[in-house]
Amino acid sequence: MRIRTYNQLTQLTWMPVVFPINAYVFEEENCLTVIDIGKKSFVSEIQKLLEKAMKPVTNLLLTHWHSDHTAGLDEFHSTFPEAEIWISERDCRLLAGDLSVSSEEKLPIKGSLVKLNYRPDSFLAEGMKIGSLEVIATPGHTPGHLAFYDCMNSQVLIAGDALQTRGGLAVAGNGSWTFPFVNFGTWDRARSVSSAQKLAALDVSYLATGHGKVVKHPDLSKAVQKAKERI
Ligand SMILES: [Zn+2]
Repeated sequence: MRIRTYNQLTQLTWMPVVFPINAYVFEEENCLTVIDIGKKSFVSEIQKLLEKAMKPVTNLLLTHWHSDHTAGLDEFHSTFPEAEIWISERDCRLLAGDLSVSSEEKLPIKGSLVKLNYRPDSFLAEGMKIGSLEVIATPGHTPGHLAFYDCMNSQVLIAGDALQTRGGLAVAGNGSWTFPFVNFGTWDRARSVSSAQKLAALDVSYLATGHGKVVKHPDLSKAVQKAKERI
C-alpha cells in the first residue's frame, strides 16, 4: 500500500506498480470524507489516518459502481457504521445487479457484478455538496458516474474513472494500451468525452483519479482534444 498526501487530500494506492487502485481521504475542518473503497485493506489504513487526524469519518462518496471502487464497502460499513455512504441513484441500480439500460442509454453496461451485502441508500446528484466537495455528474465510464470538486479552497478534483492518469492523462475510453483497463470498463465513449470537457472547464490544482498518480495542474483540454479526435 502506498500513501501520499497533497494538502487536504490523501491518496491510498493498492498495488501501485502493477495495477494501481486508488482510494482517497479528503480532510475537512471537523471530519474526513472517503472517496471510493475498491479494496478491503483500505479500511484499516483509513482507521490509522483517522487516529492521526483525530477526526471522524462521516461520509463515503462512491464515484461509480465498479468493484475496483466498491469492493471494500461491507468492510467499510461495519467499521464505520456512523458514516453515510453515497452513490448516484443510477449506479446504485447497477450495484444491485440490474444491468438493464433505457432506450436513451442504448449501449450495454460494462463491468462485472460485485457481491456485496451492504447497499448505499443515500443518493448524490449534480450540484449537491458534501462538506466542501461539489458533486459533478460525469456519465460515460458508467451512466451514473460522479466526480467531486472542492471549489472553495483546495481546487482538488477527484475524477474517479472519468479520467485516468496511469499510462498518461487520458479521458475514460481513450487511455493508453499500457493501462487499458479503464477503456475496457467504459460504457459510452462519446458521453465520457462530454463529461471530461465539463471537467476541463474547472480550475484544478490537483487531479486525483481512480488509477494512477495525482497530477498537479493537469492539462485537461489537451486530453479532451485527443479523445475527441478518436471518436
Ligand atoms: Zn476503476
